Amino acid sequence: LFDTDPPPWEIAAEEDVAVAKVVLSDAPYGPYDYRIPDPMRGLLRPGMRVHVPLARRKRPTLGWCIETSIGNSSGRALSEIAEVLDDEPLCDPPLVRLVMWMSHYYQSPAGQVFDALIPSSVRANAGTRERTYLTPAPATEDESVVDRLPPKQQKALRLLIASGRPMTAAQLMVHAECTAAPISALRKKGLVQEESRREMTAGMPTRWQSGDGETAQSHPPTADQAEALRRIMAALDSQQAKTLLLHGVTGSGKTEVYIRAIEHVVRFGRAAIVLVPEISLTPQTRGRFERRFDSVAVLHSQMTPAERHYQWQRIRRGEVQVVVGPRSAVFAPLPRLGLIILDEEHDGSFKQDTQPRYHARKVAFARAQSLQIPLVLGSATPSLESWYATRSGLAELISMPHRVGQRPMPHVQLVDLRLKEERTRGGAISRQLHLAVNETLREKGQVILLLNRRGFATTIQCPSCGHVVACPDCEMPLTHHRDGGKAVCHYCDYTIATPPWCPECRFDGIRYGGLGTQKLEIEVKARFPNARVARMDSDTMRRPGSHQKVLSAFRSGEVDLLLGTQMIAKGLDFPNVLLVGVINADSALHFPDFRAGERTFQLVTQVAGRTGRGDRGGRVIVQTFSPEHMAIQAASRHDYEQFAEAELANRQKFNYPPLGSVARIILRGTAENVTEAIAESMLSRLEAARERLGAEVRILGPAPPPIPKLRGKYRFHLLLQSLDPIQLGATIRKATETFKIPDKDDVQYVVDIDPMDM
Ligand code: ADP
Ligand code: ZN
Repeated sequence: LFDTDPPPWEIAAEEDVAVAKVVLSDAPYGPYDYRIPDPMRGLLRPGMRVHVPLARRKRPTLGWCIETSIGNSSGRALSEIAEVLDDEPLCDPPLVRLVMWMSHYYQSPAGQVFDALIPSSVRANAGTRERTYLTPAPATEDESVVDRLPPKQQKALRLLIASGRPMTAAQLMVHAECTAAPISALRKKGLVQEESRREMTAGMPTRWQSGDGETAQSHPPTADQAEALRRIMAALDSQQAKTLLLHGVTGSGKTEVYIRAIEHVVRFGRAAIVLVPEISLTPQTRGRFERRFDSVAVLHSQMTPAERHYQWQRIRRGEVQVVVGPRSAVFAPLPRLGLIILDEEHDGSFKQDTQPRYHARKVAFARAQSLQIPLVLGSATPSLESWYATRSGLAELISMPHRVGQRPMPHVQLVDLRLKEERTRGGAISRQLHLAVNETLREKGQVILLLNRRGFATTIQCPSCGHVVACPDCEMPLTHHRDGGKAVCHYCDYTIATPPWCPECRFDGIRYGGLGTQKLEIEVKARFPNARVARMDSDTMRRPGSHQKVLSAFRSGEVDLLLGTQMIAKGLDFPNVLLVGVINADSALHFPDFRAGERTFQLVTQVAGRTGRGDRGGRVIVQTFSPEHMAIQAASRHDYEQFAEAELANRQKFNYPPLGSVARIILRGTAENVTEAIAESMLSRLEAARERLGAEVRILGPAPPPIPKLRGKYRFHLLLQSLDPIQLGATIRKATETFKIPDKDDVQYVVDIDPMDM
C-alpha cells in the first residue's frame, strides 16, 4: 500500500491538515500529534482539554492540547481528536509553556503538571450548573408572524424581544405571568432559540472581617523601606525580569514594602501574586492586603471547591488585583501579571512533596522570566540559594537591617546544656530558662517555647558532652534504627552497630531521639501552675480553624504561654511576647540533612524575631549542647551574612546546593529485598547513563532514608549530585527513559529534583 507515491490530492490534504499536539493526563510519554477534524478547527486552542484515542485502549483518553499547527509532517496518518472538552482554554500560552518547562525540568508527565496547575475544582466545574437560555429566533423579525400568535404566546415572545437579553424559561414565565405551555409552543414553532451556558452558583465569599485591631492606615515608610521601594519600583519600571532579594530583619516592615510595590503595579492596571507559607495565611495577613486593595483573592486550604473555582474564574477574568496564597498560587491565571512576591522565601512549604515535586520559587522565577516581570524574594533568613544568586549576579540584594521604630533586635542568650548546673532533674527546661519564664509571667508578659522536632529521625547524641555520631565519609549524623541496633548513614548506607557508650567521652548513657511537645506540656504545667498554657503542633492543630483559635487566644491575652513546634516560629507579630525559649536547638542541627545548619539558623532567628516587637522589648534563651556551633553563634548575634558565608564554604566541600545541584530517586515497595534489588538496578542504569553521556555526576546509595519504612512500604533513596543541573537532569532522564519495573514486584519510584527534605 505504501510502495507507490500517494496521489497529488492526498499530499495536498496532508499539508492542509490541522494538527494538535496533545499530552496525556495519565501517561508519561508524548506529546503526540492528532488530527483536528474540520468542525473543531478554530475551536480547539492550546490549553484546552481533549479526548483522544490511544492504541490498545477502548475508551478515549484525557489529554491537554499544547499547540496547534497546520500540516502533518509525521509521515503517517494521524488519529483524530475525539472531543474538545472546554469552550475556553484553561491556561494561556505562557502558562502552557510553563507547564512544558516544569514537565521537563522536574521530569514529571506534562498531564500531571497541568493537573497541579489547574485546580481540580476548576477541572470539575465545581459550583456551577448548566442553564438553558431562550432568545428570539430570526423568524420573529417578521412582525406579522408575531401578530398571528395566540395572546399568551404573543405576550411572552414580545417580552423576550423587548428585554433584549436571554432568559431562562422560568424567568420568562414569571415576567409573562404564564405557564410553561405557551413557552414550549414557541419553542416548537422555532420562534425561540435555546442556548445552554455554564454558570457559577456560588456567590461571592464574604470579605474577611478581622478583629485584630489593625487599621488600613499606611505608615510613612522608614528610610530602609523607602530605599527598598525605590529599588523595586526601578525594577518594575525597567520592564525586565529582575530578581530582587529583600533581606529584611524580623520586624523591619517587609509587608509594607510589598503592599506599596503592589500599589505601584495596580496603578498601571496590572496585578500581583504574593506567595506566603500556608501557615502564615492568618487573618492578620489577609487583613493587611484586603484593607489596602479593592479586589484581593486569598487562596487557602480551607476553601470549598466552589469557592476555589469562583476565585479562579475572577482571577482569570482579570478582576483581581492581588492574589495571596500558598505555593500553588504561583499558577494563578492573572491575565496582566506585573509582579510576583515570595514572602518568607526560605520556607520549606514552597516545595511540593508530591508529584510534580516543584519549588514555587523556581517556578516563580521561570514565570517572571518568561513574562519579563520582576520577582521579589523576601526573608529575614534568605535561603542559601537566593543569597548565592545575589553573589553571582542573578539577583539584586536589598537590605533592611533595622527594625521599624528603632526597636532593638532582641538579646539572645545561649544556655550550655552540657553544664551540670543548668540541667534540672528529669526536665527539658534549664535553670536559667525556668527563672526567665517565671520572671516574664510575673511582669504579665507572654512566653513562646519552641520545641523543634522534625520527623522521627533519631540521631545519636551524647547527653553528657553533646557529641553526635556521624558518617566518616559524608559527615552526616547517623540514624539509629531500633530494629537490630544499627546506626546508618542515609546518604551512603555506611552502617555500624550503635555504640553502647559515647565514642568521644565514654559516657555510657548515650540516648536516642527525644522529647515530644506533649511531654514538654506536662513539664511546663507542673513548673508554672498558674500560667495559662496552649500547645500548638500538628497533633493539636488537626482541625480546621484550631490554629486561628489558639493564635487569637494568645493575641487577646487569654493564654500566657504558647508552646509548640516550628509552626509557632513564623510570622507572628505579638507585641507582648517578652520571652522566647528554644528548648533544644540541636534537634534541628543534627538532623541528617545538609541543610540542617541552615534550618537551625532560620529557626532560631525566626523564633527570636517573635519577641521585642512592642515597647517593652524582649529576650531569647536558646538551650543547646553546641553553643559554639557556627549556625547557633551567628543566630544569637542576628548575623545572617556571617552565617551565609560560612555555610557557603561548608557546602562547597561536597558541592551541595547552591554550588551544585542534587536530585534524589525514591523507590518504594512492599518487599524490602525486592525494593533494594530494584534500587540496585536503577543504580547501574544511572551509572551506565552517566558513562554514555560523559556526565560528571556523583551517585550515592541506595540507602534507607531516616524513616526507612513508611505506611507499610520500604524505601530506598539514590542521591545524585553534580555541579551542572543539566548534566544531572540528563543522566536521570536517560536512565529512566526505558526503565520498567515488572508489576509483580510492586515497586514504584519517583524522581525528586532539588529535594528539600533529605
Ligand atoms: P516583617 O515582615 O519585616 O517582620 P512586618 O511587615 O510584620 O515586618 O512589620 C512589623 C510591624 O511594623 C507591623 O506591625 C507593621 O504594621 C509595622 N510597620 C511597618 N512599617 C511601618 C512604618 N513605616 N512605620 C510604623 N510601623 C510600621
Ligand atoms: Zn555516609
